[in-house]
Amino acid sequence: MTCKNCGKEFQEGAFCPYCGSAQFTAVRQNNDAPSGGYAVLCFFIPIVGLILYLVWKDEYPLRAKSCGKGALIAVIVYAVLAVIYVILLFVIIAIAAAASGSATMGLSTLLLL
Ligand SMILES: [Zn+2]
Repeated sequence: MTCKNCGKEFQEGAFCPYCGSAQFTAVRQNNDAPSGGYAVLCFFIPIVGLILYLVWKDEYPLRAKSCGKGALIAVIVYAVLAVIYVILLFVIIAIAAAASGSATMGLSTLLLL
């Protein structure tokens, strides 16, 4: 790597051996990258995504963003699925009520939709 201060080449390290200036940003950027694997993991376990996002958002912003994105998409998908599930439940109740002969109950349940 190249020193940010004096421009001399040296092996990977937190400090330049020639002028002693700190190279923290360069080391951090080398380790940070968007991660599809973490995004998928956080999609399936959103709570892990939230925790990883909070832990990494300062030190590894790109990786944290992948986790946050995965968790966010998961929350949206789960919310949509929950709404569909509730609607289906109402429809099933309405059909069951109508089939059992209680037409007024079936109708009122349908109107709730
Ligand atoms: Zn230097």
